[in-house]
Amino acid sequence: YLQIKDVSKTFGTFTALSGVDLSIEKNEFVSLLGPSGSGKSTLLRLIAGLEQPTTGQVLIDGQDVTALPPYQRGIAMVFQDFLLFPHMTVRENLLFPLRMLRMNRDDAEERIDWCCRILSLTALKDRFPNQLSGGQQQRVALGRGLVCRPKVLLLDEPLANLDRELRRDMEIEIRSYQIQLGIPFVYVTHNQEEALSMSDKIAVVNKGGIEDFAEKSAVYDRPKTRFIAQFVGRSN
Ligand code: ATP
Ligand code: MG
Repeated sequence: YLQIKDVSKTFGTFTALSGVDLSIEKNEFVSLLGPSGSGKSTLLRLIAGLEQPTTGQVLIDGQDVTALPPYQRGIAMVFQDFLLFPHMTVRENLLFPLRMLRMNRDDAEERIDWCCRILSLTALKDRFPNQLSGGQQQRVALGRGLVCRPKVLLLDEPLANLDRELRRDMEIEIRSYQIQLGIPFVYVTHNQEEALSMSDKIAVVNKGGIEDFAEKSAVYDRPKTRFIAQFVGRSN
């Protein structure tokens, strides 16, 4: 459903990614797990179209989207340092991406209602970001991705700024949204516990390559390389 074929990316003389192949099914939750600087964010940005690969292709639902700009790919991305517009209510924050798509008013309101129902934000629609808890703000940030009904949702360490307990709750919530929506989520983390609790499959990223891509149980129980055994086996 989402295919990455022999993708590489160089910045000047530095090779950030090389020979990356990944094939992700429609109903899969996949974590990209790897240390800082291994190329996880670069890979997500390539999928989103925020960056062009030096070589290789990205396919979504059979269509080669490598040459398409981000907004034509049907992909949404949620970042770690998500920024909500402080002067806009939850509803207006969710409306913003739909305005960019030039959706008409009635369809947009319907879409916002749908999104708020899924994310339990209906009662908070008229609040401003500074009147929300960290978890609620995080849900609005997710909402801004989901409101466009993407074919794929990319998440780059979206929980990194939340405290441990809230993280646990949000992990479970995010997984349940993925199951409800039936679209692939590609979730970047350097936290192996998070990858283990949320994913169907894990792609271990190391030095710009995919060291292994397999069911999470396989990655944990039968690590393929010394690096995986060490990285996955450590405790946070
Ligand atoms: P982290 O866990 O710290 O977020 P990451 O796995 O997401 O790390 P990337 O952000 O993908 O890592 O970066 C991979 C490598 O590519 C790093 O060495 C980084 O310095 C380099 N890099 C990323 N973007 C650029 C750029 N625009 N120009 C030059 N080098 C870059
Ligand atoms: Mg990163």
